[in-house]
Amino acid sequence: MNDKTDPINKQISQLHHIIETSENIVFLGGAGVSTGSGIPDFRSENGIYRTTRLYGYPPEKMLSRTFFQEQTIKFYDFYKKELVHQDKAPNDAHYALARLEEMGKLKAIITQNIDGLHQKAGSQVVLELHGSIYRNYCMACHRFYELSHVMMSKDEPRCLDCGGIVKPDVVLYEEGLDDDVLNRSVKAIEEADVLIIGGTSLNVYPAAGLIRYFNGNNLVLINKGDTPYDQQVDVLIRGDIGKVLDQVVNSL
Ligand code: ZN
Repeated sequence: MNDKTDPINKQISQLHHIIETSENIVFLGGAGVSTGSGIPDFRSENGIYRTTRLYGYPPEKMLSRTFFQEQTIKFYDFYKKELVHQDKAPNDAHYALARLEEMGKLKAIITQNIDGLHQKAGSQVVLELHGSIYRNYCMACHRFYELSHVMMSKDEPRCLDCGGIVKPDVVLYEEGLDDDVLNRSVKAIEEADVLIIGGTSLNVYPAAGLIRYFNGNNLVLINKGDTPYDQQVDVLIRGDIGKVLDQVVNSL
């Protein structure tokens, strides 16, 4: 008998049972969902250290509204290299969640990621709390631009109609979240029977705040490291989100 793996297996069967018997699941995910696709978590200690060393500023500063306005070209230099990952593919976590939605069990994915990988995996209802690299707007006339327009601009991307600066539809520091996305997220959580939280340390706003709207039956947390909510959840799985979800969903 292996004492180390047994508790995990017990929790995985618990999660299996919870998913099997629910048709109103909501998933709330963070950067850890995409690290398995090779997208680094720039908020991690290592990420922050690396960014500061390479660019001379911590990521919080470079990704602030003020920095965007005052040093737009530097912002885009950082943004294009460190935040846009067009070549990355969804991993097991994304595919398992898409499958759960297809089965009619998962009602919404609420994500803090901006990489669009849930949609690439086939998910339909994806609430992007921090926006998406795939949507870009002229700040003056609001014309929409694809990511390619941003990526092909040599300096800061400009609007082809009015010459205004094109900004990614990504929530920067000092900016508020989109009300519509936030309201839909709160509603989905309030109505959910099961809330699965994964790949987030729950230290970052707004994920932590959203949990309090949950009044369903089972709160599940899947994360590699500790979180402040470890004692408050019904099922705690210390593991890789992709492996766990893949194992559970493929045996449904
Ligand atoms: Zn314009």
